Order: sequence, then C-alpha cells, then structure tokens
Amino acid sequence: MLFDKFQSMVDFRAELAERGVKPFGAVTEEIYSATEGRVEGRDVILAGTNNYLGLSYDPRCIAASQAAAQRWGTGTTGSRVANGSFSEHQALEADIADFYGVDHAIVFSTGYAATSGMCATLAGPGDVILLDGDSHASIYAGVRLSGAEIIRFKHNNPDDLAKRLRRLGERAADALIIVEGIYSMLGDVAPLQEIAAAKREFGGYLFVDEAHSMGVLGETGRGAAQAAGIEDDVDFVAGTFSKSLGGIGGFCVSPHAELQAIRFCINAYIFTASSAPSVIASTREALRIIRAEPQLRQRLWDNANRLYSGLAGLGLRVGPSASPVVAVVLEDRERTLACWQALLEAGVYVNMVVPPASPSTYCLLRNSVSAAHTPEQIETMIAAYAALQDAGLLPAPGQA
Ligand code: PMP
Repeated sequence: MLFDKFQSMVDFRAELAERGVKPFGAVTEEIYSATEGRVEGRDVILAGTNNYLGLSYDPRCIAASQAAAQRWGTGTTGSRVANGSFSEHQALEADIADFYGVDHAIVFSTGYAATSGMCATLAGPGDVILLDGDSHASIYAGVRLSGAEIIRFKHNNPDDLAKRLRRLGERAADALIIVEGIYSMLGDVAPLQEIAAAKREFGGYLFVDEAHSMGVLGETGRGAAQAAGIEDDVDFVAGTFSKSLGGIGGFCVSPHAELQAIRFCINAYIFTASSAPSVIASTREALRIIRAEPQLRQRLWDNANRLYSGLAGLGLRVGPSASPVVAVVLEDRERTLACWQALLEAGVYVNMVVPPASPSTYCLLRNSVSAAHTPEQIETMIAAYAALQDAGLLPAPGQA
C-alpha cells in the first residue's frame, strides 16, 4: 500500500503522544527576546535556535523590515525571472558580493533552495561530485537531482578525499567537491586547509556551504574558508539568511562570471517566488550590523566556550571542540526523549535529534548558543544538565 512506508513514523508519533513528549514541532507561543519565549505553555530559554548573533529580534532589523513592507507590500507574487526581481533583491546581491569580496552573487528564497539548486545545477550527467558523507539534506537533494556520478568521502577526512580524487585521474580536474563550513549536528569545522590542498594537488571546483559558519567564523565573519585562509581556493560559497542573519533566504557567491548565466539554469531559482522585500530589507540591515559590530562574534564565542566547557566539565560527551553548536551525544533514544522533556520542563528548550535525521546512529541533544545569551542563561543551561545527572537521566561525571 502507498502508505506502508510511513508506518514507522506513524508508530513513533503514537509513542511520543502516549508519553506526552512533543520534540518535533513544539509550538512557540510567544517570543520575548532573541533568547526567551514561551514554548508549549512554558517560559523557556531558547537554547536550540540558529540565531547565532541574536539578530532575529534586533530593533534595527525589525524597523527595516516594517519600512520595506510599507513601501513594497507583503510579497512579490512571482519569480525572480518573471515579475519578482525588485531593486531590494539586486541591492542585497550587491551587498553579499561586496561582503565576500567577489563580483557575483545570487539570492534565493531559502537556504535550502540555494544549496540544493546550486548542487543540482553545477554538475550534470557525465560529471563527478565528491561530497562529505555527513552533508546536509539540501546537498543530498541537489546532488541526486544533478544526474552526476556521486562519490562520498569520509566525514571531515581530507585523506579520503585525496585518495578518491587521485583515483579519478584526469576527471578530477572537473570534479565538484562539496563540503560545509561548520557541520550543524556536532558543530565540528571542516579541515578546509587540507581540503583546499587536495583540490590544488588534483584539481576540481570547491563548493563550501557556510550556512552555520557565516557571521560566526573568520576575521570579518565570512565563514570557515576565511578562518582557514583559503578563500582563494573556493569557487562557490553558499549560505543562508536564516541563521546568523535572523531572516530567511539563501545565497551563492562566486568569483566566476559564469554564475550570472548559471542563475538562469537553476530550477530552484526560476520556478519559485522571490523573497518578500521585508525579509530582504531585514537581511540587508543584519548584514550591515555583522560588518559593523564584530563584537557580536566575540560575545557568541565567549558564550560558546562557556557552554562547551561547562557541559564537557560535567563529563558529558560533546563534539570535538568548542563551537556555537554544542551537541550532547547519547546512545539511547528513550533516554534522549526523557532528557529533552525534562529540559523543557526545567525551562531550557533545546533541539532533539534522533536517527535518521542525525548522520550516524547516535541521538543528540543539540544546544546552540547566541551572542544574545547572557552568561547567567548559559549557566542555567549547564545547571539544567547537571540536574539531569542528579536525577539519573544522564550519566554522572566519569561515567559517560
Ligand atoms: N545548508 C545547511 C548546511 C543547513 O544546515 C541548512 C539548514 N539547516 C540549510 C542549508 C538550509 O537553510 P535554510 O534552513 O535557511 O533553508
């Protein structure tokens, strides 16, 4: 029957309902600030957002958005290639290109459309794509549509990438290599110096999805490639407006002039309505703020270091190094559900990740940090985890 393949999801939802746990699609009923709101009837610290710089609630971004809605209306009602290219979209493309110091930029309606659209279009039948095995779903969606030969290399393993490029021989010169800056599940950073070295040795085009690293890493916030000092080796940077910039939408920038023609070959650009001008306007203001206020990035990292060392100090299994995403790794799904619920009841709202959404077989309590968190809020989050240990829901120090 058509619906048989959904039975495991039907069963899982029934199990969650029976336990009264609602980790997927919990409803936010109020937002009090970038870091506090009411979720499912409880006042909570928002500890599982991607609001890395807290800009979703910045008064300047809100004002820009309101002014644009007054001027342009609520939506464009059409695609960029038809009636939906407003001067705001073009201005944001110019802003993004300028931010990255390159000549070419495309703005998309979502980050998912940017990544999947670029991956589906850059390579085609007869081409080869090499991608990190832990790539985001939007990358997988794109490469599958591309019709290219797909080769996965081991997560964050440049030796495995080099081995596979070597095997391609002359075909390596035209291969598309796809990686992310910061990986969203464990918060680990791609070893971009080694990846760029492999590209220099064997050839290929390098595509970096900086969704979680733009505004977060690099001297001026351009991301992991800037932090690694290898921007000259990068052919395409994709990213999103929905995380550090606090809006919605996505982009791709490139030094290659061909990007302007490629734009008209991307279904996810052509056959979808362009973003509302109000969203474009808040994004432009957010971009201006991240350029003008590098101290936001410093505050984010102070908070990230505090949370990482606090949770690691409790003996919990966390990612390999401090990062704005601090995931607590658990093996047991039941325990993960119980912990997520207990955290919510304690006023700390985090993300829960269970297979198959997590890349491997583990379960995660994914905490993320914002520049807008106060040190006291971070301490409250750490204390909530310590309370889970006291309650026997998490292994006590030394037992993880
Ligand atoms: N790429 C990566 C690596 C992501 O993590 C995400 C979102 N989680 C996206 C693309 C899609 O971005 P958006 O949610 O803004 O559409």
